[in-house]
Amino acid sequence: MVDVKFCVFCGKPPESKNKEHVLPQWLLRLTGDPNRVVSMGYNYKSRAEVSFRWKSLVTPACEACNTEYASLESEVRPIVEALLEREPLSVSNYCTLLDWLDKVRVGLWLNYHLLMGNPTGINPSFYINTRLRKKDRFVAIYPIQEKNAGLNANGVETLSFHGAPSAFGLRVNNIFLINCSSDYIFSGRCGFPYPASMKLHLDGESLGYLQMEKFKATRKIKTPLFSFQLHKPSVFLLQPIMQTAVSEIDQSSTFLGGDPAHDPYLLDSTMTGMQPGVGKIYRQFKDHVSRLDDESTLISFDTITGSECRPAGQLVSQVYELQTFLQSGYTPLAESLEVRKQWNQRQRLMKQLNRAISKNYINASSPKH
Ligand SMILES: [Zn+2]
Repeated sequence: MVDVKFCVFCGKPPESKNKEHVLPQWLLRLTGDPNRVVSMGYNYKSRAEVSFRWKSLVTPACEACNTEYASLESEVRPIVEALLEREPLSVSNYCTLLDWLDKVRVGLWLNYHLLMGNPTGINPSFYINTRLRKKDRFVAIYPIQEKNAGLNANGVETLSFHGAPSAFGLRVNNIFLINCSSDYIFSGRCGFPYPASMKLHLDGESLGYLQMEKFKATRKIKTPLFSFQLHKPSVFLLQPIMQTAVSEIDQSSTFLGGDPAHDPYLLDSTMTGMQPGVGKIYRQFKDHVSRLDDESTLISFDTITGSECRPAGQLVSQVYELQTFLQSGYTPLAESLEVRKQWNQRQRLMKQLNRAISKNYINASSPKH
């Protein structure tokens, strides 16, 4: 049995126990009755619909950790409110939003895991603290034609998300956000160091270890930054993040593939006043990319017109396709043939389930005859 009494932020047994609302109370009030019951996809094992009260989405947390993150919540609240009004926001506002999305995405992952009684036998190896601002991340923002208030999280119910909380969708009233964070998904195309291969050890002494080799950097920006093609968002912001060594198996260098302090290109391309190696924010437009150097620059919504407009269902379906795309970035390494077979089976199953959900969303949004 997995000991489920961990703090969602630091992973330690919670000190002077507190409860953390994964989706904060202010967001529940902003989007309807805080006591409402919602559905969160289905349990893939029992094929039964999962529903619960948003309010009951609470996880244990230390009092100190909870207090520390309360300031992020109060900072992000006016940012989300401004988004709903389609108001321009600064680069640093968007950086706060990306931090908060890391928190919510990992929080939902840990919460779902607790809520469902750990259906896929995963032992969390990281928590909000250890995953916030740690890997390449982006947010794509879509205005939607939705008159009713509401809050939905998409993609958090899948087997793929259980394995790695890399991408999810969040509908807040008339805005739909796609948030994604994973290993080196566009660092290379921002000119940052990236590995030629990422091999995942499935068994043996290095079980769970991601072996990254042959780092190189072009020091040039390539468009599009991200190779998975999304429907045109109104705002599409990407932030490359250089990873630091996480275990003794990693290379002895502090930064995988280079040190930003000694490289003029990386120094220019990273933020100051944060942990070293956090990239500046890049805005992807239809046919070009801008690196946003000034943190006070205001970012306005790009208008989406005519054939670029997509029904909400099609926007949501992208989350499931994106998860499948991200899975393919890793090459499995296994000593045992049996382990390798099981991995392949699981990959296929994840893909099938995501495909089925994605199709459902697309069909639900196509006009009926
Ligand atoms: Zn804690």
